[in-house]
Amino acid sequence: MEQYIKKVVIVGGGFAGVNLIKKLTNDPRFQVTLVDKNNYHFFPPLLYQVSTAFIENSNISYPFRRMFQHRRNIRFHIGSLIKVNSEENTIETDTGILPYDYLVLSLGTETNYFGMENVKQNALSMKTIRDALKLRDHLLLNMEKAVRAVNKFEKTKYFNIVIAGGGPTGVEIAGMLAEMVHSIGAKDYPEITDRKVNIILIDASPSLLGPMSKKSQEEAANVLTKLGVQIKLNTPVKDYKDGKVLLGNGETIPTNSLIWTSGVIACEVKGLAPEAIGRGRRIIVDEYNTVHSTQNVFAIGDICLQTSDEHYPGGHPQLAQVAIQQGDLLGENLKKMVENKPLRAFHYKNKGSMAIIAKYKAVVDLPKGFFKGFFAWLVWLFIHLIPIASFRNKFTLMFNWFFAFATNDPTLRLIISKEKKKGEEVKKELT
Ligand SMILES: Cc1cc2nc3c(=O)[nH]c(=O)nc-3n(C[C@H](O)[C@H](O)[C@H](O)COP(=O)(O)OP(=O)(O)OC[C@H]3O[C@@H](n4cnc5c(N)ncnc54)[C@H](O)[C@@H]3O)c2cc1C
Repeated sequence: MEQYIKKVVIVGGGFAGVNLIKKLTNDPRFQVTLVDKNNYHFFPPLLYQVSTAFIENSNISYPFRRMFQHRRNIRFHIGSLIKVNSEENTIETDTGILPYDYLVLSLGTETNYFGMENVKQNALSMKTIRDALKLRDHLLLNMEKAVRAVNKFEKTKYFNIVIAGGGPTGVEIAGMLAEMVHSIGAKDYPEITDRKVNIILIDASPSLLGPMSKKSQEEAANVLTKLGVQIKLNTPVKDYKDGKVLLGNGETIPTNSLIWTSGVIACEVKGLAPEAIGRGRRIIVDEYNTVHSTQNVFAIGDICLQTSDEHYPGGHPQLAQVAIQQGDLLGENLKKMVENKPLRAFHYKNKGSMAIIAKYKAVVDLPKGFFKGFFAWLVWLFIHLIPIASFRNKFTLMFNWFFAFATNDPTLRLIISKEKKKGEEVKKELT
């Protein structure tokens, strides 16, 4: 007897969505459609290296259609989710309506500005490939303006780079920028003799690398301080306008560059019951990742809030490993559903967390231990190489790393698109 083929629609091809797809690949019982607003998968942990012109964006991104070649039951649909119509079992995207038997929401998160409109308008975020390229262009263009600036206030603004958010991304980008100031500042900008770039890392909490161990937090603070990064803790950002960052303690910092890595909020999904939306706009799911008050809608990865795991009663941390493991398990559970077998509940296996601070310096927290330094740095590089899509990308990334770390002088510092302020036309910046 011919089996009814289930239509699985997955919205969001990040870690969670792509790992789910791997599980369902070439299983004739499923016709899978991935919907994503971009036509590529990318690797967020290395965005900071793109934004600092250390590696190319193509090293950490990969087109979905290339990824799905020879996967007979997988289709790609470019489009942005507008709404879920759960009564009709359809979703509406800006490029069409798609029917489903099973719907999986894996849209991840977006930058959270905590309601600060000026910060949203004027700061530089670090969430997407577009953000990283925009930040790269901005930082390079900023230096060109700094070279030509004569006004004292303008000069100060160009020479102060403020990073809000002392989590792994903030620490990583601060360390990388500080090293670049030392290694290439004088070589690339010989005109600048009277000033040095100030890198100021700000966090509202009492320590850097909040969720990591005390040892990791102290190591990050020590290494960054030695590199000349100014660290301000217990200091929330309150506003950013007219080229000045206003801090909670009343202090203002003149700057043309506020890099915002302070927080995320789950992407909004319209059409779900209000009771299904929890803290941080995350979608509330049960132990099988089924969305509250639905039967055939699931949410996995950063976008979901699952409180059934006994070790994570407040929900899981929004990390790649959680997304990967949830994608894997949902794939197995969808197969069990069509086989009428009992489902397996999700339990997160914490494999540890790590952050790179500078060249040859990283910290690694394991469930039962901590290590740092050169070996931790090597482990960080290796672990971040494994999930990069395709052998070619792994190879070119390794080559770029080798060249960049060996010379301290990668050659990617190209200003590709001149800046455009949100809502404004492109300005002729250098005339
Ligand atoms: C800069 C940065 C550094 C990070 N570093 C680390 C790290 O070192 N270690 C770690 O464990 N975690 C890290 N994370 C977190 C990690 O990237 C996330 O936990 C992980 O990506 C979550 O996977 P996901 O599949 O849920 O969402 P994502 O990977 O964010 O994927 C979401 C997908 O949904 C798509 N999408 C979004 N909105 C729509 C829409 N409306 N319609 C259609 N498609 C849409 C996006 O294009 C994307 O492809 C970092 C995150 C960032 C931003």
